[in-house]
Amino acid sequence: MNIENLIYQELLEIANQRGIFLDFVDLPNKIDGFWFYIKNKTDAIAINRVLAGNKRNFTLAHELGHSALHKNSNYNVLTNGGKLDEKMEAEADEYARILITKIKKNLRKEVTLNIQK
Ligand SMILES: [Zn+2]
Repeated sequence: MNIENLIYQELLEIANQRGIFLDFVDLPNKIDGFWFYIKNKTDAIAINRVLAGNKRNFTLAHELGHSALHKNSNYNVLTNGGKLDEKMEAEADEYARILITKIKKNLRKEVTLNIQK
């Protein structure tokens, strides 16, 4: 198993732990994924099923970022005529970078511990 897949497994686990509904669906080429939230009802992420590897990981981490940061914002690209909020997109990107870096660090620690055993 390569590192991209290990990171992917961790991201799936995080989504699962947070009770986020996750699905891989057919989307237009330009759309990598989106987060869909209705207070007390739906916390869901859809990822374009054609994505793979790092691109899929980053997209999933980015949408996890929206879920973690933007629940009080009423931010919904779907009902907003497809318009993106640049500030919130930048925040989700930053969250994704930090989350993936953290996962990599933890994986490295695990590998080191296994070698020492
Ligand atoms: Zn976004």
